[in-house]
Amino acid sequence: TDRIVKPDPLPDEGEDRALRPQKLADFVGQAKERRNLEVYIESARRRGGALDHALFYGPPGLGKTTLAQIVARELGVNFRMTSGPVLARAGDLAAILTNLDAGDVLFIDEIHRMNPVVEEVLYPAMEDFALDLVIGEGPAARTVRIDLKPFTLVGATTRLGLLSTPLRDRFGIPVRLEFYSVEELVTIVTRAAGLLGVPAEADGAEEIARRARGTPRIANRLLRRVVDFAVVKGDGRITRDIADMALTQLGVDHLGLDGADRRYLRLLAEHYAGGPVGVETIAAALSESRDALEEVIEPFLLQQGLLQRTPRGRMLAPRAWRHLGLEPPRDGSA
Ligand code: ADP
Repeated sequence: TDRIVKPDPLPDEGEDRALRPQKLADFVGQAKERRNLEVYIESARRRGGALDHALFYGPPGLGKTTLAQIVARELGVNFRMTSGPVLARAGDLAAILTNLDAGDVLFIDEIHRMNPVVEEVLYPAMEDFALDLVIGEGPAARTVRIDLKPFTLVGATTRLGLLSTPLRDRFGIPVRLEFYSVEELVTIVTRAAGLLGVPAEADGAEEIARRARGTPRIANRLLRRVVDFAVVKGDGRITRDIADMALTQLGVDHLGLDGADRRYLRLLAEHYAGGPVGVETIAAALSESRDALEEVIEPFLLQQGLLQRTPRGRMLAPRAWRHLGLEPPRDGSA
């Protein structure tokens, strides 16, 4: 199901590239991590060496790919991109690694989904810039070491906990990306509206920002739909009324929740008196995969204080009852 508030890219979202910031200075938010990266990049440039390997982690749509591209551009090196699931065999990764130039950035998206055999190849590559190739078979087999040019691996993951410890330990620069504030998203939406050639009034941009789940990719997607409404139903400007009309029409409420989120909250309220309920039970009741709940729906509900995670399962927070317009149970458990 392609939800408008889904933080993963939609199939037709190639056009999103037009809105991607190109320089670190244009990358809004994540201020602390950005300042640190600036120092590491400058240091690598002055030393003339490769930047340390970096691991970007956090929910989808927060700018991991964008930031990795910016790092390569700021370093003045090539950007090569692949993903964990695409690297099926050790040879696939070896081919990419041997083709890197000195200092290049290799970006591996969804690095937690890499085949363990491929991961083994990565260890000496990251540590010693070397590939250990096995030549021959049986007792005659021997290992030959091939030197690589120094490079920077940037790994991205939405599930830090699924990364193996040896892999995690090989990243010198861990970068945790956080949900964006409304103010930061206002800046992103206003800039993007400018790039799309549609002026956004301040409270129009804010309405979109408030309802974008702290996620730039969703903000840009909502913006495109609001632009359609502004052109067809309005005077071509993004006003608060137009934004509200468009987003309400799309089923996105004033917190940025859509039907799937509300179904989740309502299930807990109406069938489990607010919980606690195990995630597997919720997944079965909603016919969703546990992964989809844990990666996409729950992080934002948790961050918004609508949901609590307890050792016995998920529980609705008081704010969720209010948001649904329901009375919390009286026994004080909510
Ligand atoms: P991720 O790799 O974390 O899933 P992306 O890097 O693909 O996220 O970002 C999704 C989109 O959101 C990008 O195309 C870009 O337009 C926008 N975006 C992400 N982070 C920022 C930011 N900090 N400032 C402006 N736009 C951003």
